[in-house]
Amino acid sequence: MTIFAKIIQGAIPCNKVYEDEHILAFHDIAPRAKVHVLVIPKQMHLAGLQDVSDADRELMGYMMAKIPHIAALLGVDKTGYRVVTNNGPHSGQEVPHLHFHILGGEQLKHL
Ligand code: 5GP
Repeated sequence: MTIFAKIIQGAIPCNKVYEDEHILAFHDIAPRAKVHVLVIPKQMHLAGLQDVSDADRELMGYMMAKIPHIAALLGVDKTGYRVVTNNGPHSGQEVPHLHFHILGGEQLKHL
């Protein structure tokens, strides 16, 4: 079980930003920007984008549609923010549970 699965189950606490029946958003424990929040699906079958199939289209669309709402809750919707998902070893992905990083609250280095 991943650390995110434990967070979903409430076994490990998190600093929650948003939750509904499909997703959970919480502050990253080691923020890389003034605002650094993780958005994760509650379903546990996706380690990363490599596992996404047509069956996940609704969930993927749901998460993308909710990210601007979460950004607004964080107060970064007007100033802008970056959405990142690490996928596999070369990306440095640490937690094998699909997640999107929302980064903002300050000027980010151009990619
Ligand atoms: P990845 O490198 O897999 O894309 O991102 C995993 C993220 O999860 C990292 O930014 C890391 O700081 C964060 N993280 C790891 N363990 C915990 C935890 O227990 N709580 C929270 N809130 N974030 C965590």
